[in-house]
Amino acid sequence: MSNQRQGLLTLNAGSSSIKFAVFTVPELKQLLIGQIDSIGSIAAFKAKSSDALINEKYEWSQQDAPQNHADALKWLIEWLNLRMANLKICAVGHRVVHGGQFYSEPVLINDDVLHQLESLLALAPLHEPHNVAGIKAARESFGEIAQVACFDTAFHRDQPFINDTFAIPRHFYEEGVRRYGFHGLSYEYISKNLPELFPEHAKGRVIILHLGNGASMCAIKDGRAVSSTMGFSALDGLAMGTRCGNIDPGVLLYLMEFKGMKAKEISDLLYKESGLKGLSGISNDMRTLEGSDQPEAKEAIDYFVSRVKREIGSLAMALGGLDAMVFTGGIGENSVNVRKAVLEGCEWLGVEIDEANNASGQTVISSEFSSVLCLRIPTNEEGMIAAHTLALSNLSIPTMSS
Ligand code: ADP
Repeated sequence: MSNQRQGLLTLNAGSSSIKFAVFTVPELKQLLIGQIDSIGSIAAFKAKSSDALINEKYEWSQQDAPQNHADALKWLIEWLNLRMANLKICAVGHRVVHGGQFYSEPVLINDDVLHQLESLLALAPLHEPHNVAGIKAARESFGEIAQVACFDTAFHRDQPFINDTFAIPRHFYEEGVRRYGFHGLSYEYISKNLPELFPEHAKGRVIILHLGNGASMCAIKDGRAVSSTMGFSALDGLAMGTRCGNIDPGVLLYLMEFKGMKAKEISDLLYKESGLKGLSGISNDMRTLEGSDQPEAKEAIDYFVSRVKREIGSLAMALGGLDAMVFTGGIGENSVNVRKAVLEGCEWLGVEIDEANNASGQTVISSEFSSVLCLRIPTNEEGMIAAHTLALSNLSIPTMSS
């Protein structure tokens, strides 16, 4: 016990996966990152430590596979106890998709908070139940240690009313039908780091493009959210891996009235069968589409890029101009071609790409003549969760030297 160091665990429970990371306390050095996928069917596990001493992959047989998040988490905790025996987990930070109107900051979880989160399940039915299940399972497994909920919506709670509402009768806004925006932990991480890297631009008008399998963009002024492409749900705005993005609500009325589709079928269509996957008929994965010579793959990428460009115009208008753009997320950080296509479409804004810097993945990807500074910055949502969790859980005791 006395040789044990303190550690902090972050959990990100999705519909069929749990992503996790382990950090030292109080330095918050990342020790390990991993995930359990396909929970409920033939689950698979992988984990990699920062020092490369652990690099494990594991696939369960059908009979032994964890059938739910609670089972998967129990297995993970046993694995951690075995592989990181000199580490004692002292706090757990959870990514929670929706904090509703209540939470504009992370919060220490107690029974009241948990009840309030349960009252939000209807706002994010595909994500929130898994986040809550993850919290319950972690409370069961870890007992009394501090657990913190970090919300993807919290960063956007500052945005002005006109960017927070829809033009439907006002009582819906009071009930909570609002433009919440998501990917807030990613935006928070980038905007917290920007002042150190580019202090003048950080004070200005910035668009962050979080382009991953889920994708959104956020307009930020002096570090605070002004407007987001995502709205009430994680469906709005950009086309994504399998989600439709911006769609005329008349299409939904048509599907209901004339195609007889029920809510669940429409939900599956919009969340799971649309976006890059639906348009290409090939894949939801940008790498696969970039590698394909099928015209449908190219059209799907063209649509994705075109929506990004249109949203840049819209968000630049919401900001009253533009000083910097930051690309992040799996596509934003790694796709040279998507960044190039987007930036070449922004010449009218005074953007000039530095082709060589873009191709080699430098931080600054605009030329010295560009009137908008364009950046590529890897995001770190786990690191943000860890920082909030440390701050709220009062773990200031120095670690034991090992
Ligand atoms: P999630 O929303 O699940 O966190 P990620 O941020 O991991 O998603 O992004 C996944 C997307 O990033 C996928 O479409 C994947 O193809 C894309 N991606 C990852 N690496 C590359 C690459 N080198 N080139 C193009 N796209 C990439």
